[in-house]
Amino acid sequence: MIPVTQPYLPNREKLNRYIDGIYERAWLTNNGPLAQELTQRLEEYLGVENLLLVANGTLALQIAYRALGISGQRDRAEAITTPFTFVATASSLKWEGVEPIFADIDADTWCLDAANIEAAVTPKTRAIVPVHVFGNACEVEAIDLIARRHKLKVIYDGAHAFGVRYKGESLLKHGDATTLSFHATKLFHTTEGGAIIFKRKEDLERAKKMINFGIAGTKNIEELGVNAKMNEMQAAMGLCVLDEMEGNLKARAAVWRRYAQALSQSLLLQAKPDTLEYNYAYFPVVFEREEQAMRVVATLEENGIHARRYFYPSLESVSCLDAMVDQPVSKDIARRVLCLPIFYQLSQKEQNKIISLIATELNV
Ligand SMILES: *Cc1c(COP(=O)(O)O)cnc(C)c1O
Repeated sequence: MIPVTQPYLPNREKLNRYIDGIYERAWLTNNGPLAQELTQRLEEYLGVENLLLVANGTLALQIAYRALGISGQRDRAEAITTPFTFVATASSLKWEGVEPIFADIDADTWCLDAANIEAAVTPKTRAIVPVHVFGNACEVEAIDLIARRHKLKVIYDGAHAFGVRYKGESLLKHGDATTLSFHATKLFHTTEGGAIIFKRKEDLERAKKMINFGIAGTKNIEELGVNAKMNEMQAAMGLCVLDEMEGNLKARAAVWRRYAQALSQSLLLQAKPDTLEYNYAYFPVVFEREEQAMRVVATLEENGIHARRYFYPSLESVSCLDAMVDQPVSKDIARRVLCLPIFYQLSQKEQNKIISLIATELNV
């Protein structure tokens, strides 16, 4: 079976050496030396400041909402977000007592359409939570203007945007905070894990307490907190994966380009700004009709290849999120989109098979 993605497994001997160190120190968690080293190396690699490692990408979102005062308040606030994303973007808001209000996406970039954000602002709106979906850049300048005009916080869900650069700078610098997921299936991973990149140092400092039960230093409990710390085993995995990013990215870029060359004439690809330096994390394609996409899924499945309907369904139709309003563009894209297998170990032969099965299906 060829999966849609496969976790990147770094050099085993190197990982063993890190684990030997963990055994020698007997320091397994609570901001250990490997977590500190990973924090510093990620800041350098990504070209950002104020990065906080956390236990996973969902907690990264929840802690960011708390640290920025969007959740944990007396009133029930609203946040404007996209329906075309993984459920965690919206469910983490709801879980934090913030109502996710969906605005529709742009038909070409599949990110939140800034024009629709402003229309969704109400007196209860406290934040905008856009997603750099599949690693594409949101309209960061327009979103920044809307946020300033209405005094809203902006938290980007950057779970797909590891290493992406926009206009010569890290895309992850935008907004009051950007969150990352380091789940095993993501481009860069720590088995499970995540991070928050804050614009302001004081927000980072508050979040540091929040991920450790609200404890400051060693004893004072200054905030309401939870446990959202990254442990040393996770950090060891991250350090090993980070060492091998260059080869990983090169292999993915080759897979991505071969797909694009073979399929861009017949299928709709995500439109990206010219100034985007992409990370080749995903290869999503949109078919002309839903039935066509479903036929391709079935044919690939019969041949032991798993293409994922990702993201489907559009989140306004998920009942536990209580959305009221249809989002036609997102709904339409979600019905017709598939993510094709893309990962480091995918061979050229396997990829050729995927391409030819799709080509055959498109011609009938
Ligand atoms: C993976 C993902 C998350 C959740 O991250 P976890 O580390 O799995 O908790 C959130 N948002 C998006 C867009 C994701 O793809």
